[in-house]
Amino acid sequence: MKQSVKLIAGNWKMNGLAVNLGEAEALKQALEADPAACRVVLCPPATLIERMARLLGGGAVELGAQDCHASPSGAFTGSTSAGMLTDAGARLVILGHSERRAGFGETDADVAAKAETAVAAGLEPIICVGETLAQREAGEAVAVVSRQIAGSLPDSLAGRPFAVAYEPVWAIGTGRTPTLEEIEVVHRAIRLAIRARLGEAGDIAPILYGGSVKPDNAAEILAIPEVGGALVGGASLKAVDFLGIIRGV
Ligand code: PEP
Repeated sequence: MKQSVKLIAGNWKMNGLAVNLGEAEALKQALEADPAACRVVLCPPATLIERMARLLGGGAVELGAQDCHASPSGAFTGSTSAGMLTDAGARLVILGHSERRAGFGETDADVAAKAETAVAAGLEPIICVGETLAQREAGEAVAVVSRQIAGSLPDSLAGRPFAVAYEPVWAIGTGRTPTLEEIEVVHRAIRLAIRARLGEAGDIAPILYGGSVKPDNAAEILAIPEVGGALVGGASLKAVDFLGIIRGV
């Protein structure tokens, strides 16, 4: 299997004010002094994208967003379009995060529609999938993520840059992680599901692991076959912690 360069993305969620831009600055300076062995992305809240774009200046840290609307424009009060995100300086976008699936009722079809719009606007989607604790305990993890892949990846992703993130819902922000073997099993299943959905055109997409990745477990997770990087929540808010993960590649 052809493997692309690993990708470590930080999801700041609804955290981050101007005062926190210093963390992005510290990350940039550290990676300019000692370049990462992987791609590094920060996904701040939409309000910080433009300021962070100026600060990062297209250097060692790439910039992403956390969501976009499925329509390119229109009467959708409070929403942000994919074109607005690229205009502000984002180049990637997280889509279908479990917090959006659970909290905002996003379906696989919604995620696919957003991915279609994001790709059309020139964004690289990071499409999230993952089972709940009840689904894992029922032995349904592989079936759930395979179904999510089948429904959440639009045809237009074939041959375009994108990533998938496997984020078990029960591992996000909890300090709990699956075993290394469990991660490997699901990542292999996701690779097959991407192949079934898009053919060989999807082979270069990295499959990130997300869910309580920290400096002390990053290296062993990133060494698992088919783990093409990490999607990091809490530990991406402080440059020192995020760097500890990045140095695990
Ligand atoms: C996330 O929200 O995508 C995530 C993985 O969070 P955490 O690293 O805090 O578990």
